[in-house]
Amino acid sequence: MPELPEVETIVRRLQPLVVGSTIEQVEVRKEKSFQGSLDAVVGATMLSVERRAKFIRLQLDNNYNLLVHLKMTGQLIYVSSTTRVGGGHPTADWVDELPSKHTRVIISLSKSAQLFFNDQRIFGWIKVMSDDEVRFIFDQLGPDVIDASVTPDYLYEKLQGRSIAIKQAIMDNSVMSGLGNIYACDALNRAKIHPARPAKSLSKPEVAELLSQSKQVLELGIKLGGATIEHFMHIDGFSGRYQDVTAVYGREGEACYNCGGTISKIKLGGRGTYLCEGCQE
Ligand SMILES: [Zn+2]
Repeated sequence: MPELPEVETIVRRLQPLVVGSTIEQVEVRKEKSFQGSLDAVVGATMLSVERRAKFIRLQLDNNYNLLVHLKMTGQLIYVSSTTRVGGGHPTADWVDELPSKHTRVIISLSKSAQLFFNDQRIFGWIKVMSDDEVRFIFDQLGPDVIDASVTPDYLYEKLQGRSIAIKQAIMDNSVMSGLGNIYACDALNRAKIHPARPAKSLSKPEVAELLSQSKQVLELGIKLGGATIEHFMHIDGFSGRYQDVTAVYGREGEACYNCGGTISKIKLGGRGTYLCEGCQE
């Protein structure tokens, strides 16, 4: 599932290419994948591309937006005669000819460019929304983990009185947005905090360390470009992705970098959770 760094990477890559482009046509190949009026978007020009949590917002010049969520298997791939960029769930569609059998929406842009929305499992979507509707959704979200406004004091306050597991609390979008399962597991290991501890049991210094590690793992993920087409095409397999440098995620049975203990896997809140019993208290 694309996490915040992958989504941020897509946004940074699309921004210089699609801003200023006009939407000439939208071909909806799967009704469920595109919700809203085509009339509201065809003929409009893209003003900006931005990310909030894991939402991608393509803002148009007519007070409408295309709000995109990739969910489990979504991809956005921009193709012109000279460029091919994008990202999301890594599959052969990154490099194969498009459209493919997983292409759900094709947005034709000026200068003969196309933006493909591919999605194997069809949980992702593109929705046409007014500026007010987007604002309403964004207002429900806590600030991004990597925002300067998310301080140790802010997080400590949010955790008080909450007996849910700390891992679930830091993944709760109303507390702060953008920490998915991979990064939550890693941040907790690097901060040496057990994922099942009640949120309210953390001391202020523990919260400060956990937040610092949360920001660091996400920034590392962004620096590594999440999963990108360039990595797919120019480097063997998916090397260079954050998945190859995780602290604990996907490393069951291997040695903990903090203490040399053995990493184990448990279920917590229904999600596979990796931890080291040796150093995470
Ligand atoms: Zn350890």
